[in-house]
Amino acid sequence: MLHVGVNGYGTIGKRVADAVRAQPDMTIAGVTKTSPDFAAEGARAAGYPLYACDEGSVDEFHAAGLAVDGTVEDMVDASDVVVDATPGGVGAEYRPLYEAHDTPAVFQGAEAPDVAETSFNSRANFETARDADYVRVVSCNTTGLSRLLAPLAETYGVEKARTTLVRRGGDPTQSERGPINDILPDPVEVPSHHGPDVQTIFPDLSIDTLGLTVPATLMHLHSVNVTLESTPDPHEVRDLLDAESRLFVVPERSGIESCGQLREYARDAGRPRGDVWENCVWGESITVEGRDFYCFQAIHQEADVVPENVDALRAMFDMADAEESVARTNAALGLERDGDARPDPRVAADD
Ligand code: NAD
Repeated sequence: MLHVGVNGYGTIGKRVADAVRAQPDMTIAGVTKTSPDFAAEGARAAGYPLYACDEGSVDEFHAAGLAVDGTVEDMVDASDVVVDATPGGVGAEYRPLYEAHDTPAVFQGAEAPDVAETSFNSRANFETARDADYVRVVSCNTTGLSRLLAPLAETYGVEKARTTLVRRGGDPTQSERGPINDILPDPVEVPSHHGPDVQTIFPDLSIDTLGLTVPATLMHLHSVNVTLESTPDPHEVRDLLDAESRLFVVPERSGIESCGQLREYARDAGRPRGDVWENCVWGESITVEGRDFYCFQAIHQEADVVPENVDALRAMFDMADAEESVARTNAALGLERDGDARPDPRVAADD
């Protein structure tokens, strides 16, 4: 059993904790909270050992009636590995603490790539994290693009990828973020920083990205064009994407035409928190014109990096190869195509 500590129990941290607990070969050593708020109560109710971020806040937890098992240092001591899901930049500040305790760590996408030995995506470069002490799981957008580009690159070769990322303004809990009623080129510079982040996974890939931010909290939406090195058969490319366990090709007959409906679909299927761990690629949008591939895909920003964090842990501790780890993670989460209520898109393709 791998004992995993989660430092930063926010949007990503609480989901990673639940995903780790669901695995047969991992357990949660503890989670940290900065204050005794509703999420701290939730962590206690879930049965996770709870640690305060520093000595100064321990009394605050006790005053709120929440027992803590110590501070973040105690949690690091009790852990074989830490998943750091603190806000961007805070993870880098914690790295010396992890090093001092000789504890490996997984960082998240808002950290600079040099916080870790490698940037990670389960589908594209699992092996780079094998036996590494410090690994960075790339952002939600980069994870989504990597999952789509990996099979296209392997099968057809990629000459050039161009993607417009329509980004959600904030997560549902982030009431301080916006815009409320606007559409922003964000960043206004072209290309955006997302392309270089994808290149931390595919160093030789030619990719340009443009970013916008819109008043939405549900998902990101990517408009994708990839010029391939060879000409694919349109049906074959759809089958190729269908066969990927973390790509959900949204069937035409489902009537799903929006991100809101995708999230409702996940809630109806009983997914925890209504999470959509897979990329959602609209089947009707998969189009091939000569060597140009096009599609729309939606990315649930709160969820897609969660299974990748679990796989990163297995790679670091040499617990499985990529295929086995992805299968184990998917099975434990209920992400298997035949294991949940979502329709089989291969059947829908024949409709
Ligand atoms: P969040 O703000 O929801 O959660 C961060 C948590 O860390 C909060 O609970 C906060 O209280 C806690 N924290 C703050 N300072 C701390 C400290 N010094 N020590 C311990 N805990 C501390 O943030 P998030 O959205 O979960 O993002 C975390 C990381 O995950 C970032 O790198 C982010 O880029 C990445 N990420 C976020 C999303 C997303 O859409 N939310 C998607 C993919 C990746």
